[in-house]
Amino acid sequence: MSCIFCKIAAGEIPSTAVHEDARIYAFADVNPRAPVHILIVPREHIGSLSEAGAHHGDLLGHLLWTAAEIAREKGLGKGYRVVINSGPDGGQTVDHLHLHLFGGRQMTWPPG
Ligand code: AMP
Repeated sequence: MSCIFCKIAAGEIPSTAVHEDARIYAFADVNPRAPVHILIVPREHIGSLSEAGAHHGDLLGHLLWTAAEIAREKGLGKGYRVVINSGPDGGQTVDHLHLHLFGGRQMTWPPG
């Protein structure tokens, strides 16, 4: 297992846990781009959103719902942003599907 996010989810690489259950793990981004910047990953290795299959529908929904739950726990009542970068043109740098949850400041649009 060489994937860094697989190792983080398995507790083999240290991280600051925010939330976890049997299917997913959420932790603080090491290079935060907002006052709240949390990564939410499935424990199952899925390389990117484009590699997710129809059988992952429930898991994808659970990842999104968890992002909203964490946002509530973090008091992001004024709003937040959830981002999935997929593939090189999408800006993905770690090849394990992950959601970014950003909050605590005004977001700008369009993203770069
Ligand atoms: P992306 O560019 O969408 O693939 O996002 C990858 C994210 O993973 C970046 O925001 C990195 O700062 C973050 N990251 C990389 N390594 C670690 C790590 N060991 N712990 C926490 N976050 C990490």
